[in-house]
Amino acid sequence: MMTNKQKEKSEELFNEGAICPFCESGKLRLKKKRLEFEYKGNNSEITKEVFFCEECEEIVFKKKDEKAIERFLTDERRKVEHLLTSNEIKTIRNSFDATQEQFSKMLRVSKKNFARYESGTAMQGVAMDNQLRILRDYPEAIRSIPGQEDRFILGKKRETFPEDFKCPSSIVNSASSDFLFEDYKRKKETEKMLIQA
Ligand SMILES: [Zn+2]
Repeated sequence: MMTNKQKEKSEELFNEGAICPFCESGKLRLKKKRLEFEYKGNNSEITKEVFFCEECEEIVFKKKDEKAIERFLTDERRKVEHLLTSNEIKTIRNSFDATQEQFSKMLRVSKKNFARYESGTAMQGVAMDNQLRILRDYPEAIRSIPGQEDRFILGKKRETFPEDFKCPSSIVNSASSDFLFEDYKRKKETEKMLIQA
């Protein structure tokens, strides 16, 4: 169910034939437009259906496209600045099997800021970007962060698990695998007891 606030956000402000908000005389028409952007000499483009005023040639984005266009632009700027994109950041968080709330706590940034990196409404700084890259390439480095010392199991856990212990590879080195392993051991114990009995 959508709340009233969400409804308000997703509702289109304009429709075909509405008076153009810029020149206040032309009428808005839906039209597929190739939108071209330039950032520090780098060009990119995206095609979207927009409201277009034939008279003053201004365009109004559809409400539902605003966020996607913002993320697209942020990602294009990130590529130029050699920063991780929204999706890359999300992939790193998922590799730690963490929610946005858990991951932002681990990184010691506000949940709001971290959510903005993923949605593309804000661009992460270079320090945060470096931190994320290090965690992507050396996930065990998470243990260097205060409060996260126990997050990863020391040593090569992957190799020490018994063969019949099934653990998703995304969490094999994280604390989550501990819970699964405890469960596995309990089940094994129960099996043993049943055989003996
Ligand atoms: Zn107009």
